[in-house]
Amino acid sequence: MTVTAAAAPRPAPSDALDQTPYLVVDVAVAAAQYRRIARAFAGTRAYYAVKANPEPPLLRALVAAGAHFDVASTAEIDLCLAAGARPDQLSYGNTIKKAGDIAYAYARGVRFFAFDSLGEVDKLARYAPGATVLCRLLASSTGARWPLSRKFGCAPDLALDLLGYARSQQLDPAGVCFHVGSQQLDPDRWEPSIATAAELFRRAGDLPLRYLNVGGGFPVDYRVAARPIEDFAFAVHAAVDRHFGADRPEMMIEPGRYIAAPAGVLHTEVVLVARKSYADDHRWVYLDVGRFGGLAETEDEAIQYRLSTPHDGAPAAPVILAGPTCDSVDILYQHTRYSLPLALQSGDVIQIHGAGAYTATYSSVGFNGIPPLRTVCVPSGGSGAMSNADVRK
Ligand SMILES: *Cc1c(COP(=O)(O)O)cnc(C)c1O
Repeated sequence: MTVTAAAAPRPAPSDALDQTPYLVVDVAVAAAQYRRIARAFAGTRAYYAVKANPEPPLLRALVAAGAHFDVASTAEIDLCLAAGARPDQLSYGNTIKKAGDIAYAYARGVRFFAFDSLGEVDKLARYAPGATVLCRLLASSTGARWPLSRKFGCAPDLALDLLGYARSQQLDPAGVCFHVGSQQLDPDRWEPSIATAAELFRRAGDLPLRYLNVGGGFPVDYRVAARPIEDFAFAVHAAVDRHFGADRPEMMIEPGRYIAAPAGVLHTEVVLVARKSYADDHRWVYLDVGRFGGLAETEDEAIQYRLSTPHDGAPAAPVILAGPTCDSVDILYQHTRYSLPLALQSGDVIQIHGAGAYTATYSSVGFNGIPPLRTVCVPSGGSGAMSNADVRK
């Protein structure tokens, strides 16, 4: 927590469209994405991972569409309940929770939790007595553009013991969850964890295991199109059939990016176009948004957004794209080839597409005096946002 007075100017929401940068979120696109993934994964409960974009109008649209919610903090619980979700539609999926936060969730009626360690089972037994709990398994993030490393999950042998221990503590050990990394491009990457889960279910004896939560990670179109969500649903269902056979568990998914990303368009202004030498034909294009203003996922150039400019179609040449701050890591793309129109100049507005997930909430509160990225939610249309469905049909 900062103890000095906040220096960053906080413009009134009414200014939001007068000055870049800002993110326009078309909540109808998010709802359409929810319906498409829910249809593709018929019979599976879809929990929207709220951290991808917690804007209240977006949450309300998803409540109306029938979504469940994966929450990771007390604030996310409050946002979902305020948006009209019932506590039994929430899953507290973060495996690292403060005791007080577990108690808070329990008092609000949340009864569904994830864990991956002994200490967390002890906390859940004490502060969420009798709750239904899933154990998170370690999973490989190979193939994901935004991997999750080994921070979450535990090995299957430990998971089995922890589920047994949970029962001895009067919790309801109900199954397992895992996450194969975000923007996971390969539909076959779910199968190894599904196989591990099936083996664990077989060894679980009389534990009442019944839920298989295959997490999020479902990819969207950035500069390069991802495979359609139906391919992922097919691969996951086929893997469950193969490894669980007739004893199909109740299935859960936790899409975040898939629902929020296509709904957002980030509007940014070109601050400067510059050249560093006569010999280098790359232009440097500095935008008024960068790594600290919401484009955190350009780290290692992992997420490569699609851009549009007012000069699209005119002759173009390679650029290096950078943000506006005085930090030298604030470069978006220098190794990935981006080409922008030669006519591009200061003051032009560039649209960054697919920017509805993991942007506004990742922006700093005032680094270099730049205020956090503002979000404007619109009911439908006008944002230039296109869902995967629109692009494909
Ligand atoms: C972030 C997160 C998700 C969502 O991941 P996406 O790649 O955005 O779909 C799902 N489940 C958990 C537990 C998460 O932490």
